[in-house]
Amino acid sequence: ATPTALLVGTGRGAQLGILIKGPEVLESTRRVDTVVLDKTGTVTTGRMSLVDVTPAEGTTAEELLRLAGAVEAASEHPIARAIARGGDFPPVSDFAGLEGLGVRGRVEDHEVYAGRPALLRDAGLTVPAEVGRAVEAAEAQGRTAIVAGWDGAARGVLAVADTIKPTSRDAVAALRRLGLTPVLLTGDNETVARAVAAEAGIDEVIAGVLPAGKVDVVKRLQADGKVVAMAGDGVNDAAALAQADLGLAMGTGADVAIEASDLTLVRGDLMAAVDAIRLSRRTLRIIK
Ligand code: ADP
Ligand code: MG
Repeated sequence: ATPTALLVGTGRGAQLGILIKGPEVLESTRRVDTVVLDKTGTVTTGRMSLVDVTPAEGTTAEELLRLAGAVEAASEHPIARAIARGGDFPPVSDFAGLEGLGVRGRVEDHEVYAGRPALLRDAGLTVPAEVGRAVEAAEAQGRTAIVAGWDGAARGVLAVADTIKPTSRDAVAALRRLGLTPVLLTGDNETVARAVAAEAGIDEVIAGVLPAGKVDVVKRLQADGKVVAMAGDGVNDAAALAQADLGLAMGTGADVAIEASDLTLVRGDLMAAVDAIRLSRRTLRIIK
């Protein structure tokens, strides 16, 4: 491949809304056979909304929202923004963001937790059966269930909904036509992940992966002989994006994700990933 022809390829990429780190990137793009897609913010819009509030017995919806909203107001996560939207919350101290699990902080005289049920259990809070049922009901509808609790027990469930991007389904179908296998990867739970995968037309799902585990998923696929493209948008995707044979960052995502990647899809649209692969194949065919 002559450098000049590859540079022509990268110029065409810019026109398509794809920023390519260097001409050599087109080579790895061409060989990819597996595309790992992060769920939140990549396949979905990541603009979540709070759709349901279910307090446990002895707690009101107002109290649940007020205390959970107060800790979430200190977090940048899309889930946090949905829960803390628009409200006027009491101040939080000793805030801690527990990556891939949830948040914790002191609000008034309570140590408040909000996140996965496992976060609360690990912190020694009891999770009443009615809270467990509310989690299952939310997840069965493809929603992410956030449990909030304080003073020794889970106090209720906040259900958050996300929607897939309008082009995700077409992009997945086009990736398949190019001979690639799409895999959905997420820190979210299996039930929600399956619902999103079905909507996007993806068969393979790897769910419940902690942020540090995403890179191991990519390594495992590579050890199986796959040539892996990874598309992601979050801080928690950066290591996996760097490990992948081809890292694709959403232009709408975190700076560290963009820095760790080989290609940036400027508009955050997966259809541009399809264009990038087509472009690399075409460019390298011309050069041969
Ligand atoms: P994804 O891989 O889909 O981008 P994350 O790794 O960011 O998801 O988060 C995984 C899970 O951790 C979420 O589904 C949620 O249950 C929990 N979580 C993460 N951040 C928060 C937060 N700020 N508040 C509540 N729960 C959170
Ligand atoms: Mg994400």
